[in-house]
Amino acid sequence: MGGTKILAAVINSKDGIIARAKTATKSDSSEKDYIESLTEITHEAISISGLRESKIKAVCLGIPGSVNPYTGRIGLAPNLGLKNFYIKGKLQKKINFPVLIENDVNLGALGIKHFGVGKKNKNLLVMFIGTGIGGALIFDGKIYRGTNFMAGEIGHMIVEENGPRCGCGKKGCFEAIASRTAIVRNILSDKRTKKKSKIGKLAPSGEKIKSKVLADAVRKKDKVVIEHLRNACYVTGTVAANVSNLLNIDMIVFGGGLMEALGDTMLPMIKSSYYKHVLSDAAVGTKLIKSKLADDAAIYGGIALAEEFLGVKV
Ligand SMILES: [Zn+2]
Repeated sequence: MGGTKILAAVINSKDGIIARAKTATKSDSSEKDYIESLTEITHEAISISGLRESKIKAVCLGIPGSVNPYTGRIGLAPNLGLKNFYIKGKLQKKINFPVLIENDVNLGALGIKHFGVGKKNKNLLVMFIGTGIGGALIFDGKIYRGTNFMAGEIGHMIVEENGPRCGCGKKGCFEAIASRTAIVRNILSDKRTKKKSKIGKLAPSGEKIKSKVLADAVRKKDKVVIEHLRNACYVTGTVAANVSNLLNIDMIVFGGGLMEALGDTMLPMIKSSYYKHVLSDAAVGTKLIKSKLADDAAIYGGIALAEEFLGVKV
């Protein structure tokens, strides 16, 4: 589920993704609207797959917000406008398959752990860098959800006292400094941008400056863009080093829109800051790597979620 659309897929571990479906969501969708859209898209995806309904083992829902997968309650999902909503129970009344819910970043991390670059690793940090910065932790092969299902909120680690204001209301959060949104904001407020960077002419409001536009500027060796990207990567590497020092994990995976578009440029920059800051013994054998599953990571994560909660192998 996202703020503007719901993407659905039918998947199993042998064939991968068999069918996809997509539906737009209105910005002022009510709880009832969401349940209707989810019911419809579930049946549409199954119908596109051509599978008999008896073959479907579970419906897994990835939610951009805090989620208790045991009770099926959304605590807060700001981009969906949902709060304190027992979505699982409501949806279960409309759908004949077991319904499971999980935070979308956790689902993505499960996908990466079981079907992506993390297959052979036990202890992972996964970071998704895009509009914001999401994080998830896997210890001993399992998602670490925390006491109130809030673990992994790496984007709100404070990295600059009195730094830029974050969407969460605090100042100096990691994502207010190193997300794509923050990088674009810094590029546009840089006095050199108008003269030296084409980005300034492209979109004064910043709305149209997506990851691909930044990647294009880097390809054209736009110095202003590269400098701001480097600053963000420096902070990202520092945060990754702090996590390594704290948890001594064996893999850090970077995903998300910005990494997909610019990973080859950013990963070496992140690594250089990481190795500068990490205790060398905490980084022995720790791999820093790009995710390869893109948006499908969360879809693959559904397979792992079904196994964890229902004991079914699909
Ligand atoms: Zn924040």
